[in-house]
Amino acid sequence: MKIAVFPGDGIGEEIVPQAIAVLEGIGKVFNHQFDFQYGFIGGAAIDRFGEPLPKESLATALLADAVLLGAVGGPKWEGLDYSVRPERALLGLREQMGLYANLRPVMLFPMLAGASTLKSEVIEGINLLVVRELTGGIYFGSPRGVEKYEGHERGVNTEVYTTPEIVRIAKVAFETARKRRKKVTSVDKANVLEVSELWRKVVTEIHKDYPDVALSHMYVDNCAMQLIRNPRQFDVLVTTNLFGDILSDEAAMLTGSIGMLPSASLGGESRKTGLKGMYEPIHGSAPDIAGKDVANPIATILSVAMMLQYTFGLDREAIAIESAVFEVLKEGYRTEDIYSLDNKKVGTKEMGRLILERLKGHRG
Ligand code: NAD
Repeated sequence: MKIAVFPGDGIGEEIVPQAIAVLEGIGKVFNHQFDFQYGFIGGAAIDRFGEPLPKESLATALLADAVLLGAVGGPKWEGLDYSVRPERALLGLREQMGLYANLRPVMLFPMLAGASTLKSEVIEGINLLVVRELTGGIYFGSPRGVEKYEGHERGVNTEVYTTPEIVRIAKVAFETARKRRKKVTSVDKANVLEVSELWRKVVTEIHKDYPDVALSHMYVDNCAMQLIRNPRQFDVLVTTNLFGDILSDEAAMLTGSIGMLPSASLGGESRKTGLKGMYEPIHGSAPDIAGKDVANPIATILSVAMMLQYTFGLDREAIAIESAVFEVLKEGYRTEDIYSLDNKKVGTKEMGRLILERLKGHRG
């Protein structure tokens, strides 16, 4: 199993080694061989090679079955032109690897209910998955730009989707729902936008191949409200690039801590069982806490659990990681971002070590 590893910048360099240690632990317990290929992206690559996604790193990513990424960016590179900023590396990888589906599970560990800004009775038991289309829509559509227009300026972006783009993301949503609670909510703005009308029509058409999965449609404004009002009603949410960008951040924050949430970006076929993918925590490089051994490594550790599940089809191994995280939290260990009185505060390395220790207690 070939894995490209890009720690990136800031806390990426601290959290990725913890996730690698967990993967190595899985290798020992379940008798698997992982081949790690390291590379530079983001600011770390700009400093060494003058560009955020050097061709060596891109080649490493393209040859791998899966990519593990920490985070990119930081104040040091903020003055650079947008075309060479660290964040370009992410867009480049998504585009070159054809990663059209972004999956963000939002699950609440019950012992962390107090960390959310919402009332416990609203968020208890939430377990939903946002499936966001990642390579189409308004972020990529043309025409785009700012132009002179009748004596003033005019900014234009275009929301565009083709049938094949909608078909493939709808299939990811239905397939994933089959392994969960078999419920898909497709989110659009079909009351106003023609492109949404097509989205709704195609999703409804694809649903005919998945009669065992329930499908409902929801307008995006209502969905934004329902996520706060009654998030337990959702299983799988499927939506466009723009709506997914906004709703997945909203959904993520239901659980209270950005340091807990993993993500997978999928596309193409892996040489192994599943979809080729890039796995990363949803948070950024957190320059404010970088180098202090306080960052929460759990989002990255849960990201490798997603990798095992989605790219390598190793469900048992993924569950073993999730259980180890659960146990450590149940025992009261917390990094600073999720710490409250009565808990035991630990740093990045210690949190990683504790999870690895619980994992070794599992029998393969
Ligand atoms: P951020 O996610 O890096 O940090 C937001 C806040 O959350 C900070 O207070 C940070 O300390 C905290 N935080 C984040 N991850 C944490 C963790 N694992 N444990 C504990 N606390 C954590 O977002 P930002 O500050 O807006 O951005 C910082 C840099 O990261 C920017 O350069 C931005 O462009 C970049 N960024 C990169 C990605 C990515 O690589 N996928 C995503 C978002 C932002």
